[in-house]
Amino acid sequence: MEIRVGILTAPKIEFEQKEDTFVLKNVRIGIGFHWDRHEDQEFAGTLEIKPTPNPSLKGGEPWQVAINTIDLEDYLCSVISSEMNANSPMELLKAHAVISRSWAIRAMQKPNHEGFHVCADDHCQRYEGLRRMNERAVEAVNATRGQVLMYDGEICDCRYYKCCGGRTEIWRTCWEDIDVPYIQSVTCDWCKNPSPKILRLVLNDYDQETKDFRNWKVSYTTEELSEIIRTKSGIDFGEIIDLVPLKRGASGRIYELKIVGTKHTEIIGKELKIRLWLSRSCLYSSWFEIKKEPSFFVLTGHGWGHGAGLCQIGAAVMASEGHKYEEILSYYYLNTQLMIAD
Ligand SMILES: [Zn+2]
Ligand SMILES: [Zn+2]
Repeated sequence: MEIRVGILTAPKIEFEQKEDTFVLKNVRIGIGFHWDRHEDQEFAGTLEIKPTPNPSLKGGEPWQVAINTIDLEDYLCSVISSEMNANSPMELLKAHAVISRSWAIRAMQKPNHEGFHVCADDHCQRYEGLRRMNERAVEAVNATRGQVLMYDGEICDCRYYKCCGGRTEIWRTCWEDIDVPYIQSVTCDWCKNPSPKILRLVLNDYDQETKDFRNWKVSYTTEELSEIIRTKSGIDFGEIIDLVPLKRGASGRIYELKIVGTKHTEIIGKELKIRLWLSRSCLYSSWFEIKKEPSFFVLTGHGWGHGAGLCQIGAAVMASEGHKYEEILSYYYLNTQLMIAD
């Protein structure tokens, strides 16, 4: 099985052909998130360069996208070393190989993008080439070759994120108004207090820059907040008077928020939109309390990511404490079976 991955680099792609690989210059990663940056990446497989719509919200000249066609299992070796550190405990890498494979097979059946199956960034799954990989990642993918999670005869849509903050979330807080029976809200004490040593082992370098992901605090002056919301939404709310959480999901993540301004009031959702509109990049999560002071707002929050499905830090701690990958998978995806995909 071969997967086509779209890698967004810059308006015009620069690449260097090597013997069996190619290097893409200035690949943009973490697009729109707080770790947004550029790096050179090296890939195996074939490369095609095509025009793609400008990623800016405002549009503009078309960009180019690098489309890399590669064997699915080789793709997974890179994905698990990009999402988490390839030196993570083996059982975490195996669990990740299974969920990344399940998710990718579904995306190949029903692509998320035009012209390729998945993108290489956090929007789909991180795929940062060969340079973060090692033989342990290859071992984890080989040990779980072809294995996927199934529920009721279908391959599961295995969503995941960095840290739940203490409780995982359900589907409808983040995406469509449906119940996905295997994505339920469960308590996760595993990510409560990971030691700095574990975090150094399981997170890639740029993720280690994020220190306060389990409990965090953001303060804005009223002026700053009004400017951020105006820029991110493109709507002039005037001065922001209040932020009112109307609906919270099972973990506490807000999925309906009322923004009250002197010129405009609007109810927004779901969790990602709330995170995007209330930050210059993106808030760690939508699980936060709001404290309104006369001239500023304080958001006190928990967790990093949408919270639905597997908690990567929690799963890493489970693995480091001796749990097998099957146990990790059944903890975060309820009543699922591990099977070989046809
Ligand atoms: Zn994507
Ligand atoms: Zn957790």
